[in-house]
Amino acid sequence: MHKTEQETFYPGPSRSHLAAFPPKERWDNWTELDSKAWPQRKERHYSLVPTTCFNCESACGLLAYVDKVTGAIQKFEGNPEHPGSRGRNCAKGPATLNQVTDPDRILYPLKRAGKRGEGKWERTTWDEALDTLATRIRNAILENRRHEIMYHVGRPGEDGFTERILAAWGIDGHNSHTNICSSGSREGYQLWMGLDRPSPDHANAKVILLISAHLESGHYFNPHAQRVIEGKANGAKLIVFDTRLSNTATHADYWVSPYPGSEAAILLAIANYLIQNDLYDREFVEQWWNWKEFLAAEGAATDFTDFETRLKQIYKEYTFEFAAAEAGVDAKVIEEIAKVVASAGSRFSSHNWRSVASGVSGGWTVARCLFMLNALLGAVATEGGVYPNAWNKFVPRPIYTPPHPAMWNETTWPREYPLSMNEMSFLLPHLLKDGRAKLDVYFTRVYNPVWTNPDGFSWIEMLTDPDLVGCYVALTPTWNETAYYADYVLPMGVGSERHDLHSYETHDSQWLGFRQPVMKAARQRNGETIDDTREVNPGEVWEENEFWLELTWRIDKDGTLGIRQYAESKKNPGTRLGIDEYYEWIFDNSVPGLPERAAAENLTPLEFMRRYGAFEVKQKIGKIYDEAVAPEELDDVHEDPLGRVFTRAPKPAGPNIVPLPSPDGDEDGRRLAGININGQIKRGFPTPSGKLEFYSSTLSRWGWPELSIPAYFKSHVHKDNLEEGQTILISTFRLAVQIHTRSANAKWLDEIAHTNPLWIYPTHAAKLGVRTGDLVRVETEIGYYVVPAWVTEGIKPGIVACSHHMGRWKLTDEGQRQLMATVKLDHNGNEWKLKRQKGIEPYQSQDPDTLRIWWKDAGVHQNMTFPVHPDPISGMHCWHQAVRVRAAEPGDEPGDIFVDTAKSREVYKKWLAMTRPADQFSPDGTRRPYWMLRPLKPAREFYKLP
Ligand code: SF4
Repeated sequence: MHKTEQETFYPGPSRSHLAAFPPKERWDNWTELDSKAWPQRKERHYSLVPTTCFNCESACGLLAYVDKVTGAIQKFEGNPEHPGSRGRNCAKGPATLNQVTDPDRILYPLKRAGKRGEGKWERTTWDEALDTLATRIRNAILENRRHEIMYHVGRPGEDGFTERILAAWGIDGHNSHTNICSSGSREGYQLWMGLDRPSPDHANAKVILLISAHLESGHYFNPHAQRVIEGKANGAKLIVFDTRLSNTATHADYWVSPYPGSEAAILLAIANYLIQNDLYDREFVEQWWNWKEFLAAEGAATDFTDFETRLKQIYKEYTFEFAAAEAGVDAKVIEEIAKVVASAGSRFSSHNWRSVASGVSGGWTVARCLFMLNALLGAVATEGGVYPNAWNKFVPRPIYTPPHPAMWNETTWPREYPLSMNEMSFLLPHLLKDGRAKLDVYFTRVYNPVWTNPDGFSWIEMLTDPDLVGCYVALTPTWNETAYYADYVLPMGVGSERHDLHSYETHDSQWLGFRQPVMKAARQRNGETIDDTREVNPGEVWEENEFWLELTWRIDKDGTLGIRQYAESKKNPGTRLGIDEYYEWIFDNSVPGLPERAAAENLTPLEFMRRYGAFEVKQKIGKIYDEAVAPEELDDVHEDPLGRVFTRAPKPAGPNIVPLPSPDGDEDGRRLAGININGQIKRGFPTPSGKLEFYSSTLSRWGWPELSIPAYFKSHVHKDNLEEGQTILISTFRLAVQIHTRSANAKWLDEIAHTNPLWIYPTHAAKLGVRTGDLVRVETEIGYYVVPAWVTEGIKPGIVACSHHMGRWKLTDEGQRQLMATVKLDHNGNEWKLKRQKGIEPYQSQDPDTLRIWWKDAGVHQNMTFPVHPDPISGMHCWHQAVRVRAAEPGDEPGDIFVDTAKSREVYKKWLAMTRPADQFSPDGTRRPYWMLRPLKPAREFYKLP
């Protein structure tokens, strides 16, 4: 396809030939023939309304085809106006339609009628639920029990909305799922560059190194996958580290199947090759690494050549042979890969997300050692390199910014984990059982901890104890395992029934995506006035943003608590802020270029976003760290011996296009403005040194000096730490067409994937005497589960793997019936048993397809049998398990689970003892380094330890 043809056909941000997409000029009335009416040529007319997918974190653009006659959504396809996904989706995007029409979805607010977990519900009203919750929250605030209010989120889907609501309430009540998800890699990236996620420019890379299954299911799955393939099409070499033969590995030029947890050893062997052979970007390292600080800490001279000598000494132990022995990979292969990496120069894109970084203790070192290759090659914020995420993300200023909460919540940020990347969410049952706290109101939202978290039975024990949890509220579009234990189940909209605003680092650009209720937008196009999404959603399904604003309003009806002001209309003071006004304000005031772009099409900015669903704020962001700081930002500056320049000038006002370095200021109250590089003050990186931190003074000062530079150490599942007969279970991998709780109510996806057998190598299986389909018992530290084996050469010999996307269950026949088996829970003290009573069966509903259900299996819920393994530094739950696998016993059935929660407590205490708590190791009497990222940062004085 010639460039001119591309541009003339579809001139949208997709910048690619998308012959199948309707031109945007015809989105108001798009005509297609009705395929079911064939051979009759019956026309159907559609309004094409954009929104964004909510089935994973990528938030790809979708285009809903709303039938102009019936008013129903016919299908979802990709939105070519979306700069991240460029019109493309994975299977989960179009399956949003299944979620809208799911016959089992929750349509009305429900209130518990029996005991918690008994499965008895009565319908209630939104008013009753809101008033009850508002009264409880108001009382907790007035009685200074603010730490008893907790909001626990799985997939946020919006940049900061609920954090601001919690800040308006004055509570440090944000809890996230991140420490069971991605904290490991985040910690490694943050230690280097002050920002916790990479933004790789795969499409322009010469060499791409992925540690995770990025092409099938990894982070920013579809937007990144299409750019990896683009890079490959342009000649890039693809290297994949994955113990399992993932779909991504099948596309690789080099597939490395390492012993789990040895990845950092391979990466350091590659780094050592670059170092010993002077194949690194010397000028970049000299200018942008904090090597002076490292040498100063060693008490050595501060000459760059001294540093180079030291670097060679430190890393010489990481030979190819050493890495080969640790990883079980041929040394020659590692050497060949090292040469390929060296050939990339600054066009080296790499990404580690989840996988081993979330699997083993010290998993954060994998991301740290991977980024070290970029830092050596100077492939940082270069074309084909890796950018810090915040530079490729646009977060607009909201209508209100409440102050930082005046409190610190030790239930989410306990003192034992001062360097944890996120809240210690998965320890909640143990922290409450310790007697450290109790909860009065506990919200979960797009989150299902009983099923998703490790140690699910401890969660059930917590939720069924009214002394630990006073009122549990599940905000969810569909039934899930945790919602069964709720006091209120409140129905929330799926991706096409709610508003959210988001931006992700899919490539070197900044864009803003707008999720919207498509029926509301379609009817507004027809001139109708729709205020509340309940008017257009099925049943009484609401959207969360309206819910939070209304709840905030009711907590402080008269405004005396100072909370109501953050939910008040600016246009009509004294009334509650509406969603249209909320987004209208942002689009009018905080998105550079949007008002002008909208005006060019005779639209208001809100109309523009409703019409196109996305806006590209800027392309090609480039090397922000290398930009000179503007003179007006430099007032009464002070430079310290490390070249850090502090200023009294306030941060520049205006939209947050480019986050500035924001660590601690100097002792005179100046803020860090930049870093002196050869006499010029440059913006630098948002780290304490302003540079890329090869040496972490933070780790050194907070009790971990032995880990102050990138290093490899033996994980909790290293061969030396396994007992006789134990092997490693990899339990973290996703299936390409399922995603946690959110996709089980999509029949097309369930038909494709509904089981999770245990991957086992042929010789390993032969030793156990099992063949594909035979049942095996997988024994963990706290119990076991029973699962069929899948004998395959796609896994390293001796290692086993099982996807965590299956094993959904329900306690009664009610609920989600397409992928949740009916089970029986038996409970004797701390010993729990779960047994499947009924698999998936066809059933009668308003959807005739439910009678065509042919699959019976729903897989096994393995996470239940895992104890908590909090990494003492990152706080990440280390998912890989040391297990024993053996043939099943007579009477064992697929999906059987046994767990002893007393053993869970023992494992929790064992890992807690590995920590270095702030009480003993804080260098400055604070709970946590102030510069480190933290959702909903409290006011600075609350960082002080009591
Ligand atoms: S589920 Fe698929 S279509 Fe939806 S956001 Fe994720 S990658 Fe995109």
